[in-house]
Amino acid sequence: MTKKSEVILSGIRPTGRLHYGNYFGAVKQFLDLQARGLTCYYFVADYHALTTIKERVDYAQITLDMLRTYVACGLDPKKSIIYRQSDLPATTELALLLGMIANIGFLERGTTYKDTIAKLGVGEAGGAEGNPISYGLLGSPVLMAADILIVRADKVPVGDDQRQHVEMAIDLAQKFNSRFQREVLHIPAAVARDAVRLPGLDGSAKMGKSENNDLGLLDDPKLVLQKIKAVQTATDPGPIEGESNDPDRVIPQMPPSVGALYRLLSLTAPKDVFEDFVGKYRRKEKFYGTLKTTLAEHVNTFNAPIIAAYHSPHNTEATVKEFLVENAKRVTPVALETVESCREAMGIGRSLYRA
Ligand code: ATP
Ligand code: MG
Repeated sequence: MTKKSEVILSGIRPTGRLHYGNYFGAVKQFLDLQARGLTCYYFVADYHALTTIKERVDYAQITLDMLRTYVACGLDPKKSIIYRQSDLPATTELALLLGMIANIGFLERGTTYKDTIAKLGVGEAGGAEGNPISYGLLGSPVLMAADILIVRADKVPVGDDQRQHVEMAIDLAQKFNSRFQREVLHIPAAVARDAVRLPGLDGSAKMGKSENNDLGLLDDPKLVLQKIKAVQTATDPGPIEGESNDPDRVIPQMPPSVGALYRLLSLTAPKDVFEDFVGKYRRKEKFYGTLKTTLAEHVNTFNAPIIAAYHSPHNTEATVKEFLVENAKRVTPVALETVESCREAMGIGRSLYRA
């Protein structure tokens, strides 16, 4: 008997263009897993984009643009199954079922929910106006659990910011199985504790599409230099303890925005270039100007083939639409089987009209 191939699933919201955090937190792993010949499902989480909607946005257009970038990075819709979340309505059906067993206290511990509450400055009770957070945002971990569980994923490669949401999906699946006394849902593995989290160019803890602090994979040389030059480096270098030049040791000892530059250098430049600049920092030389121009050069070298592949005549909106149709057809039977078995486990029974 041949062993079942490991199943991988991960998604990205169509909230802007892909940035270095997305690449090193997620896409890089997608490419490694795809190269290992595993069953990889990668989707554009267009319903998740709606959790922060304020006005109409052309998500369909952003989705096509993002998928051209995915392909330009090396994702291959013949090897990986790449689809739009909204083209797999069984996911929302599963989310509804899972929502019946997700209690509010559990959802209120979600990091996105807590961060949004903190940003809005409203207390847990939400004051006289009541809690302004949407039902959709509070429930987004349930939708994410449905995304993961519907394809029976073994592994969910995500950045550190999404680690807790994967843990919530595992909790929900275990709760479902124990409550309905069947091994209906497949339990995925937890995300490694050392998952990547890239800081923003503004020195904040996370680079994000919706934060206006990102370095993009499609940014041209002029924009790259402009963004990097604008990074705050006013403070003089402080001491760095220890002899080690390991990025994970030295970067946390730097001011956050300087650390963001060094982190990007460690990801794009050869090790000796990174270590040379750590030496300059230790000796407190005047070097921020050359650090920025050197980093910009390495970023441009990294971006150049992606930009070229993004503009390839084989990578157009039409080719993307074509593979979206094909791949939605590939994932649908798998998804329907999961939903049907959950309906059965809960007692409402399988659909009478779906074959
Ligand atoms: P938004 O700000 O709209 O939420 P985002 O940049 O956070 O956008 P997502 O679509 O939410 O991107 O996440 C896509 C993937 O990229 C997830 O796996 C997430 O963990 C990862 N990711 C996003 N930002 C970072 C980051 N700064 N460092 C590491 N991984 C990241
Ligand atoms: Mg995000």
